[in-house]
Amino acid sequence: MEKNPKTILKNVFGYDEFRPLQQEIIERALAGKDSFVLMPTGGGKSMCFQIPALCFEGITIVVSPLISLMKDQVQALQSNGIQADFFNSSISRQAENEVIGRAKRGEIQLLYLSPEKLISLSNTWLRDLNIKLVAIDEAHCVSMWGHDFRPEYTQLKAFRNSLPEVPFMALTATADKSARTDIEQQLGLKDSKLFISSFDRENLSIEVRGQVPKDKKLKEIALFVKKKKNESGIIYCLSRKNTEEVADYLNEDGHSVAFYHAGMNPEERERVQTAFIHDETKIIVATIAFGMGIDKSNVRWVIHYNLPKNLEGYYQEIGRAGRDGLPSETRLYYNMGDFVLYSQFADGGANSAMQKEKLNRMLQFAEAKSCRRKILLSYFGEHLINDCGNCDVCANPPRHFDGTLLAQKALSGIARMKEKEGIAMLINVLRGSNNAEVHAGGYSQLKTYGVGKDVSFIDWRDYIIQLANQGLIEIMYSEGSALKISPVGWKVLKSEQSIKLTLPIPAEEKTSRKLKVMKMAEEGEVNTDLYEELKKLRSSISKEKNLPAYVIFSDKSLKQMAIDLPVTENQFLGISGVGMNKMEQYGADCMEVIRKFKTVAKPKKIPTILDTFNMYKEGLSPEEIARKRDLQTTTIYSHLSQLYTEGKEVNLEKLVSKAVVDKVRVAFNELEREITLKPIFEKLNEEVSYGEIRMSLTLILKNE
Ligand code: ADP
Ligand code: ZN
Repeated sequence: MEKNPKTILKNVFGYDEFRPLQQEIIERALAGKDSFVLMPTGGGKSMCFQIPALCFEGITIVVSPLISLMKDQVQALQSNGIQADFFNSSISRQAENEVIGRAKRGEIQLLYLSPEKLISLSNTWLRDLNIKLVAIDEAHCVSMWGHDFRPEYTQLKAFRNSLPEVPFMALTATADKSARTDIEQQLGLKDSKLFISSFDRENLSIEVRGQVPKDKKLKEIALFVKKKKNESGIIYCLSRKNTEEVADYLNEDGHSVAFYHAGMNPEERERVQTAFIHDETKIIVATIAFGMGIDKSNVRWVIHYNLPKNLEGYYQEIGRAGRDGLPSETRLYYNMGDFVLYSQFADGGANSAMQKEKLNRMLQFAEAKSCRRKILLSYFGEHLINDCGNCDVCANPPRHFDGTLLAQKALSGIARMKEKEGIAMLINVLRGSNNAEVHAGGYSQLKTYGVGKDVSFIDWRDYIIQLANQGLIEIMYSEGSALKISPVGWKVLKSEQSIKLTLPIPAEEKTSRKLKVMKMAEEGEVNTDLYEELKKLRSSISKEKNLPAYVIFSDKSLKQMAIDLPVTENQFLGISGVGMNKMEQYGADCMEVIRKFKTVAKPKKIPTILDTFNMYKEGLSPEEIARKRDLQTTTIYSHLSQLYTEGKEVNLEKLVSKAVVDKVRVAFNELEREITLKPIFEKLNEEVSYGEIRMSLTLILKNE
């Protein structure tokens, strides 16, 4: 094999260019030196150790705490023809021995290990391998100051010291300045060089919506999701209860959705996650427990149902969208309730002051009136020169006006109420409300009573929050959210200083606002029919090989095929993400689809799973539907299974006998409930068809 990094990038991974810093990092590893790589999620960290691993004669050890991610990464590597394997507590003794054998014989280029495995093995056969590079993924786990501290990571230093000649590479997506030094020291990196790539993810649009009442929020989300038909997305909620509520709501609205939280048992969670990775479930509503371990590149959108605790978490979570570089949308909902709740959580906890500070920054971001990407990046120490043009503020720039008089009305209201009341009372007084509490407090006698009648409640709220953000008033969460006037506030009140406010955006504009949709750099006309056809092909390969669809081809590669229409091997290799191995494995099938598309020329409408459903409702048998639609019967069975899972009226019980379901159940249980068809097929002596297995599994899982 060619040992030149650039050639490997092209031939093995199918990419033409390195992303910024990748090449330097690779060269440093090849020169035998330590590195510390800080890149955002989806930035392309893996390539930094995978390519050196292919250049070296020997083995590269990759330490990763995320067991499910490990399997995905290894599958992705194998599908590019790379000898990769993994080793953690989830594999059987026999499989373990096989891996050991191959490692010893030098047949493995990349070996993924969990930290606890590595530590327990570090004085055994592992030591005798020809280790050329050690990559430590999620390196922030070594830092006690971080949010994912893993005690086993602290023992990696001893391993580092036992291999003084081997280059180490630490990689992470989150580490502020103080954490960086801590991580380098804890891991015992030697003379390491820090590589920080831009944290800007241009393909993610950013939108924030504040103070939306719950029922409206649900409606908005349902509308959002409807527009994203068939695209994968994640909704993050604060509580387990919320995840179930939101999932129910969307489910009733006819979407393919599941919830996910730490209260579920591991098998259930695994099942939900796998269905999402395999594009069977499109939407996951989850607490933040979801997403750490997945590497799905075609997540097209992320919604936060509540305010996240800090910007680090927020950025990491939205970063799970659009890893393939295609435009993806993110939306954050928040209200003051979330904020107050978190502040209370933080009280008395460890690092309380720091947590509160981070929460404040999060809120400032949510309420900001200037380019959000600028604020976000500056938090991570990066400074954009121009506004991004792809956030809601850029799409609807604020209009400023002299707000001194308005501010004085509010401030004098606060002063006259002796700084004892919160926002709602202040607004009621300013608007001259007849509210009983206003009278009870004697506030209707105040001079400020009714001076702000001409401004709506919602707008007042917006202005007062702006005053807080500008530091004129402080919200005392420890005192029932009473408002206090700061020294600057007093200056404005005494007319020693003036201030600017921005006009709130009218609600209608908010709902109709359009975010600029980013274009793919070399975007041409995507033949959508062909794209759908290719997606179908990918999904049938994915089922057959039991690999996640995006491991076979990214959405981006398929889109490019549907633009470029490659029909020769050379043309096919020109598609981004297609290396030699994928060309050999899937090239012919894809090109056949493309050729057919080209000759048919007249664009024909591709029927969907719904057509199967319609024919089924007309009373056609699966075989008849398959014949009519020119599809495999297995495909029809899997359509029917999916429809059934989605709650559509499909009588699966009628299509597969109870005896068969029972057989499948036994095999399924014996195979430790792995949801994969092939092993079951083999276990049942190839006597039960894939279609029947598929339907049986659906029934078994649905009826437990
Ligand atoms: P990270 O580990 O930093 O979250 P990954 O290594 O998973 O990111 O990379 C994200 C995506 O970018 C993957 O689909 C990967 O194949 C792709 N990628 C990495 N490097 C390049 C490159 N030089 N050109 C095009 N795509 C790349
Ligand atoms: Zn912007």
